Amino acid sequence: MGKKLIVGNWKMHLTMQEASLYLHKLMKMISSHRDVETVVAPTILTLQSLSLQVNRRLIKLAAQNCYWRDYGNYTGEVPAAHLRGLVDYVIVGHSERRYVFQERDRDIRLKVQAALRNHLQPILCIGETLQEKTLGETADALHDQLLSGLANVTADEFDRIVIAYEPVWAIGTGESANPADVRRAIKTIRRQIQQLFGKKASTEVRILYGGSITVEKASDYLRIDGIDGLLIGGASLDAYQFIDIIEKAHNSNREGK
Ligand code: PEP
Repeated sequence: MGKKLIVGNWKMHLTMQEASLYLHKLMKMISSHRDVETVVAPTILTLQSLSLQVNRRLIKLAAQNCYWRDYGNYTGEVPAAHLRGLVDYVIVGHSERRYVFQERDRDIRLKVQAALRNHLQPILCIGETLQEKTLGETADALHDQLLSGLANVTADEFDRIVIAYEPVWAIGTGESANPADVRRAIKTIRRQIQQLFGKKASTEVRILYGGSITVEKASDYLRIDGIDGLLIGGASLDAYQFIDIIEKAHNSNREGK
């Protein structure tokens, strides 16, 4: 039973002071479980100070986004090159980036490459829209997003990629995908990875689910065959709930042994 990866996406919440207090609380209360890796993704502004505060043996940091060029005249952007050393992971292609900020497949592909070039681990988010789900096109949507997001990634680089299956219609809506559908989507993703990078890569790649996970729902999703962890938005904003989910990840590993 592999280590579970639990990632909290704070989105545009928690001020500098709130984020620091949260991290303080989390580090005080979290139990160090060898079988769970905990990551939080705060706003970009707080990353510098949190990176000085965090005990990286307990908690790792992720950026919620990055720009793909390493420097230049790109007002308002933060390059992956500047995140190097501050964070271990960077979320790429989150549905809010794709659909609120109109990021295109090309942007996402270049961001994956920028993250890899700068020694960060990309968490590549993919998932179908409600329309694609209704039309029975989930597998096609996943296939296209994987193919495009991972174009030009070498087999060696692929070792550092994490995939998050995040149905667009389930993000921040309170509606989660049916666990049987999540299991099917994970199988589809592994099959596609096998075609792109081979059998070993397809069994070893870490695949997370994200979409309206709560403390109550977490165990059902952590038990899904082939799942390696969860990407959590809303429920990660409360340190106590986030810790409960981490404990559930630890317990699910023990049950699975
Ligand atoms: C997310 O932001 O990736 C997410 C899964 O959000 P929520 O848990 O709020 O649906």
